[in-house]
Amino acid sequence: MYIMMIASECAPVSKVGGLADVVDGLSCELLRKGHNVEIILPYYDCMNHSLVENIQGNPVELYVPFKGKQIKCTVHTGMVHGNVCYFIKSHSGERYFDRGSFYGAGDDEERFALFSVAAVEFMLKAGKQPDVIHCHDWQTALITVLLCYRYKNSFLSNTKLCYTIHNIKHQGKVTHKLLDTAGLNPSIFTELDAMADTLSPTYMNLMKGGIVYSDYVTTVSPKYAMETRTSELGEGLESVLSANASKYEGIINGVEYDVWSPEKDHNIPVNYSVDTIDDKYKNKEELRKKLSLRNVFKPIVAVVGRLDAQKGVHLIRHSLLYSLNKGLQFVLLGSSPDNEIDEYFHHLKHYLRRNSDCCLNLSYDEELSHLIYAGSDMILIPSLFEPCGLTQMIAMRYGTVPIVRNTGGLSDTVFDLELSQKPLIERNGFTFEDFTYEAIESALTRAQFVWNEKPYTFREVMITGMKTDYSWTLSADRYLSIYSKMLSGKN
Ligand code: ADP
Repeated sequence: MYIMMIASECAPVSKVGGLADVVDGLSCELLRKGHNVEIILPYYDCMNHSLVENIQGNPVELYVPFKGKQIKCTVHTGMVHGNVCYFIKSHSGERYFDRGSFYGAGDDEERFALFSVAAVEFMLKAGKQPDVIHCHDWQTALITVLLCYRYKNSFLSNTKLCYTIHNIKHQGKVTHKLLDTAGLNPSIFTELDAMADTLSPTYMNLMKGGIVYSDYVTTVSPKYAMETRTSELGEGLESVLSANASKYEGIINGVEYDVWSPEKDHNIPVNYSVDTIDDKYKNKEELRKKLSLRNVFKPIVAVVGRLDAQKGVHLIRHSLLYSLNKGLQFVLLGSSPDNEIDEYFHHLKHYLRRNSDCCLNLSYDEELSHLIYAGSDMILIPSLFEPCGLTQMIAMRYGTVPIVRNTGGLSDTVFDLELSQKPLIERNGFTFEDFTYEAIESALTRAQFVWNEKPYTFREVMITGMKTDYSWTLSADRYLSIYSKMLSGKN
């Protein structure tokens, strides 16, 4: 099968969060299974250019019809993890992808609309006719609309469209003008069964367009697929997803084990496996050295992730202080685009600067994240909602026990040692229900108790996590069966 992934991120060259890992990991697995996969991405000034291999010197020149003008773009071919990638660079005065960061510009909707039109124009110019085009999140949702309308008479009209929602919170709400900018007649889309936003119908909703106009819609865990169909977590799209339920399902993300495996990880000082699990503690020592933590008999609790309201920042802050009080060590690696949150954590870092039981690293640091997964005992994920969550699955691979709130993909992957109905052999962590201080304190206390008083049980939990297969193998098969279903017209 020939699959074209189109996305705004791909690890490791342009990564903000899990979306990047998924685009990379799923593509790698499809390639390993013998399929032809290519990826179209923006050519950001801030991407990690050194990780693109074999970049070709003769880019394709494109003039993209957008905003009533012809926007000059070039498409640069390179390889990432064995996948052929096409990076679209814009040369117009707007310098759409030269903003020093991936997201957060005031004109993000316009930037990704240009990217969407350019991606289609590139496929047409280069004669690319994939069997399936797979778009991700609001940034590339417009492609499905473009192919159903503006380009419906092109040779891409038979290509099937798969659309994946990675986070329903961010939908891309735009004015009519943006559709016009992208060459779409806004009046066609103003109805509620088209693209009109359900909460503010004067706006057009790009994610809704992705749901309505694609052949199949997925999200990143079965539990989140259910949750997004409720008014509590559907963010206004619950009725749209329910109306499209026959083409909507949740598939748990995988972890790319070529990148995330303690046996072969180049970013950690000592490799280890289930059979040499004690070597994990050499990484714990290195982590302490690197972060100037004192070497004492205590578990290390880690948080790795975006410091965003979704991730439960006030619970993270509370658990940090609570853990220090209760004799745990705490490591935080996270960054926030939100100034208020960022400032708050910088103050906290300053306040705790002399405490050698904790370290707050308020940056994005891929290499350090590997050492934290390897060197910590527990990872804390107190999310308000979590579409899938990769950090708990990565952590488990490294024998680091997750303590998570029971929501979304966390529910589908973490089973409480004491409370789960699963067989003992599948229980791999600690969970809590309520989004409250008391609930997280109770889960932390239970985990600390088992670590202190029942070390053999704690080790069993670690081993269960390490042995569970969270690779892409099964999830990529699910995607392949959806692709086949679309191609056979049976969806
Ligand atoms: P989300 O997509 O909501 O950000 P996920 O758990 O799905 O959350 O994926 C997060 C990914 O980003 C993981 O690979 C995690 O290791 C990585 N990550 C998040 N924050 C940082 C950071 N500050 N430094 C390094 N890696 C990070």
